[in-house]
Amino acid sequence: MRQLLVEATPSWSRLVLAVLVALASGDVMIGQAQPQAPAQVTAIRAGRLLDPEAGRILTNQVILVEGTRIREVGANLTIPPNARVIDLSAMTVMPGLVEAHNHLALTYKPFPENNIYYYTYVQESTALRAIQAASNGIQMLASGFTIVRDMGNNANYADTALRQAIDQGWIPGPTIINSGIIIGGMGGQFFPTPEMAKDHNIVYPEYLDADTPDEIVKAIRQNILFGAKVIKICVDCKPYGYTADEIRLVIREAAKSGLKVEGHVQTQNGARNAIDAGIWSIAHSGALTDEFHKLMAQKGIFRAGTETPPGLEGHPVSDAAYKRTLAGLKNAYDNKVPLTFSTDADYWVQGKTRGELCLEFVKTWIDAGIPNADTLRAMTINGYKLSETENTRGPIKAGFFADIIALPGNPLEDLNALKNVQFVMKDGQVFKQNGVMTPAAFFHAGPVNGWRIR
Ligand SMILES: [Zn+2]
Repeated sequence: MRQLLVEATPSWSRLVLAVLVALASGDVMIGQAQPQAPAQVTAIRAGRLLDPEAGRILTNQVILVEGTRIREVGANLTIPPNARVIDLSAMTVMPGLVEAHNHLALTYKPFPENNIYYYTYVQESTALRAIQAASNGIQMLASGFTIVRDMGNNANYADTALRQAIDQGWIPGPTIINSGIIIGGMGGQFFPTPEMAKDHNIVYPEYLDADTPDEIVKAIRQNILFGAKVIKICVDCKPYGYTADEIRLVIREAAKSGLKVEGHVQTQNGARNAIDAGIWSIAHSGALTDEFHKLMAQKGIFRAGTETPPGLEGHPVSDAAYKRTLAGLKNAYDNKVPLTFSTDADYWVQGKTRGELCLEFVKTWIDAGIPNADTLRAMTINGYKLSETENTRGPIKAGFFADIIALPGNPLEDLNALKNVQFVMKDGQVFKQNGVMTPAAFFHAGPVNGWRIR
């Protein structure tokens, strides 16, 4: 719903503007509709169409796309005579992927900061990080991620800038659901010196300190004012983390503006408080036990476990830690927790794009023994629900925004097939075809979708 409102605003404002201009010029009568050129129709021939909800593949489907949306989908539809035809009959066509936990405006590196992001944010400006985010967003889209939840640590609202730049029509990128600055008790996830914290306010802008109810309310309102679409809190980054009552306050205040709350959780006490309060989603899985998984399933709390696989250069995972990750993911699956695909991949692994890095995380799901159909559900259907786009964006259905990807192979049989996305359509425009990015149609020298998109 929020998406619809946001996207409906600019056309309304254009209409008002058009009427005002017409009135000022005095040569157009009100009530006369201007003839409009019909939107270009594109017909996609889908050899195999993957329906992740049902976990099955349909053959010989046609998807008709008109403007930004899907007009019709089905077997052997009539293709209008003037339609542009895209032949993906040798491919598996499927809806776009969702990455539920990333930080597009943060990239820490082996050098110079030895993969410690405390240093990244004193060396790299918000402006530089916003440009990195634009690049990372394009890299994510090229790998088939059409929705990315951007969960903080993005300097001074580089995440909002990225979302606006994409939504207004300056650059290509996924649909961004961004959190603004992470809200937490004093210090956030940092352990600064007294002088750096008190004299130089060094925790900001990576974290917003909010220790009292008044500060919590104010921090949430600041984030919403500056463009957050979801609220992210540090539940228990410090021993003085939030109580269940304080988390309820966060949820209530965010809900006034229609936003949900994700909690970074790293302790059992924090997990209990977050679940007790009825938080929307929990990030990270280290503290989630069988008991907590059962409660999350009961309450429908999404799990964004950020399950790092071994083998990523510079980011070693011990055998013992990986075994715990796999057992936790399997336990969550067995307990029917709503699972989402999430990586927390906010670093550079040489030789990989941000999107390729994220797709390495399918290894964890394979090793945990999650059936491919359910991992694909986590990467699509559950991701749309978590992002609250399930009624507007994601599924390949008539009336939905046309976000469509295609790849050779069959990810129901081998999830690694996802690493070979050859075709990406975003909002009805082709972004990648035959494995080559074709982003020209997405670049504009003005906010073609409307400057009012905030
Ligand atoms: Zn994170």
